[in-house]
Amino acid sequence: MKLTPRQQRFVQEYLVDRSPSGAAVRAGYSTHSARKIGEQNLKKPPIAAAIAAATGCAKPPERPALTPDAVLQRLWLIATADPNEIIEHRRTCCRYCHGDGHRYHWTQSELDAARAAHAEGKKADEPFDPLGGPGYDPRRPPAPKCPECFGDGVGAVYVKDTRRLSPGARALWAGVKQTKDGVEARLNDQQAALVTVARHLGMFTDAGAAKDTDLPDLSGITADELDRLLAALRPLFAPPPVGGGGTGGRP
Ligand SMILES: [Zn+2]
Repeated sequence: MKLTPRQQRFVQEYLVDRSPSGAAVRAGYSTHSARKIGEQNLKKPPIAAAIAAATGCAKPPERPALTPDAVLQRLWLIATADPNEIIEHRRTCCRYCHGDGHRYHWTQSELDAARAAHAEGKKADEPFDPLGGPGYDPRRPPAPKCPECFGDGVGAVYVKDTRRLSPGARALWAGVKQTKDGVEARLNDQQAALVTVARHLGMFTDAGAAKDTDLPDLSGITADELDRLLAALRPLFAPPPVGGGGTGGRP
């Protein structure tokens, strides 16, 4: 009763958060039928046996009961995750940064296509000008002395492979939404999570005067104050649990 690689991955992912549908998605099954597949998988004897072996239980454990500590721990993960693990704004080289003589820089295939088009064109008798030559790589940093971008490069938003996030970043990641302009990457609200944790721990009550429903006004909080608040809260939490294993770790 050997597991397929995908079933193995399903087992690993299921052990992280005990979510059949989440594990199915992360193991690469169709998102549409993740819930059904996840439930079916749990009933397959080889998968049930692998989970039982990993957890020391005779049968797959139920999803753990929701406890205040578990909620708090998750909110804390969200509050302290680094958004850069998921989305980065990068500044990289422009087309003129690294071309010969700061002229237009091509990738090899672009240059080949331009050369072929020239050979077919009206000016085929004239020599082809390769401008800045081949070798453009949009991942390179800007050239400080570039006369076109002046060393600023060009900005680009880069979304990481969300199958390989740390537990904190996974808690922060809220999936994607299809919009008319494309796909929108979404994160959970870190400040709301932090405020909820702090409020739960009674950090904002004034000698018991404030009601539980009173939300503190954090609209004017500075980055320094936020850092101090985080530093005060951090010792109250154990380090985040390391999930699963074998999922490839960080990108
Ligand atoms: Zn440039």
